[in-house]
Amino acid sequence: MKTVADIPLSSPSLTQMMMPTADEIAWGRRRLHRKAAFIAVLALSSYAALVFAPVGFLLRVGFALVLVVACVATATGVMHDGNHGAFSRTTRVARIAGWSSDLLGASSYLWRFKHNKLHHGNTNVVGFDTDIDQMPFARLAPQQPWHPRHRYQHLYMWVLYGFLTIQWFVASDYATLLHRKVGNHALPVTPRKRDVALILFGKLVHLGWAIVLPMAFHPWWGVLGFYVACSWLVGFLLANIFQLAHCVDIAEFFTPDAPRRGSDFELHQLRTTVDIRCKVPVVRGFLHWLMGGLDYQIEHHLAPKLPHTTYQLIAPRLEAACAERGVEYRVHPSVTAAVGSHARWLRQMGQEPVMSENAKIRTDDRPNGGV
Ligand SMILES: [Zn+2]
Repeated sequence: MKTVADIPLSSPSLTQMMMPTADEIAWGRRRLHRKAAFIAVLALSSYAALVFAPVGFLLRVGFALVLVVACVATATGVMHDGNHGAFSRTTRVARIAGWSSDLLGASSYLWRFKHNKLHHGNTNVVGFDTDIDQMPFARLAPQQPWHPRHRYQHLYMWVLYGFLTIQWFVASDYATLLHRKVGNHALPVTPRKRDVALILFGKLVHLGWAIVLPMAFHPWWGVLGFYVACSWLVGFLLANIFQLAHCVDIAEFFTPDAPRRGSDFELHQLRTTVDIRCKVPVVRGFLHWLMGGLDYQIEHHLAPKLPHTTYQLIAPRLEAACAERGVEYRVHPSVTAAVGSHARWLRQMGQEPVMSENAKIRTDDRPNGGV
């Protein structure tokens, strides 16, 4: 296997070798905008039917499930692209798309710091990447401390994943605003009064459409029941979409002293991120649509400002470039393989570590450590 030192300095980077042309990006953006319009119609029509239609319980459950799908697609296919600046060439339009996060109950302002800076800049780096910081509930990396409760994390974490969006709405965003930091990381700038007002306005808008308006037409207990059930499903699907790419037993985890920027940035992303391929075309197409292209997380992490509708186009180029350079390109061969990989990792990290585990799993000693 080649090492980084074997590649001439003048060679194009792996990212450059996969990049789409300007025409391909424009084509991808047009597809993304059509998709966003469809998601908006799906969300509005399913919400209107759920709240206003005089139908029975079973049909109402059906409308709620469609709304769940629309909310997940909004988060992955509109909000995520918007907050990366991938939705449009115009920052203002991209920000408006990103504000759909606030409609779903989570602040887009704080998301951009947590996701774009901490997660993308430090993928699977313990102490930086908040996606793998689920303490005290779960130990997701070998460098994190272990507690006896973690023996059961492969059972209870699947339930806790469902509360992801509710805790964004009712807890974590307020804690971040109050302490001006995420984990140990201070917000890069103190939010202006206007930013705070916009964050709180977003919370009110979410409360209004998701709880207050439906309560004008239905009993409060029914509204809260549907709200908790739908939020749990949205949170469960979103948590899995992100965890299956990084928190799996074929990805690697690093301490903060690992090189992860500059020339090492690409290799770091390729060691910490895994794609998912599904062999059944119909399932593959639906999952790709629902996941907002995040079955191609490697491509996303190498070029997060590209519209996700271009990932399928550029993935074969990146795979070929990796093969040419002798760099491992990690893929789950199916969705069930991805879920199994995450389940194994939860169980493995839940076992009590032996004294020398940290030394054994030092990144350079791991089987793929010498990319
Ligand atoms: Zn992202």
